[in-house]
Amino acid sequence: MTTVVVCRPDNRFLRRRYQRCPMCECTTEMVVRYELWHAPTVWCCRCGDSWSGGELHERPFRRGWRDEAVRRARQLWDLATYGEPPTLEQLEGEEAA
Ligand SMILES: [Zn+2]
Repeated sequence: MTTVVVCRPDNRFLRRRYQRCPMCECTTEMVVRYELWHAPTVWCCRCGDSWSGGELHERPFRRGWRDEAVRRARQLWDLATYGEPPTLEQLEGEEAA
């Protein structure tokens, strides 16, 4: 079992995207979180899968995880904004804060 360490996630760097999900193969709502030292993390609001740097995140081995993951992705979607990815300066500014 791996522990995912989240370094103080900041919802300002969440972006909404309409992309084709490689897992459920639908063009759908995806949430992207940009971070300074990590590859962006992407959540699919349709199937609940997520990945970063092209690596699919581990799926929990329990019933109902997908519904839960979709719910969580939808919550992130509500917090996310449309627009360009944050600039390096913005990400670095967050790091210094
Ligand atoms: Zn999907």
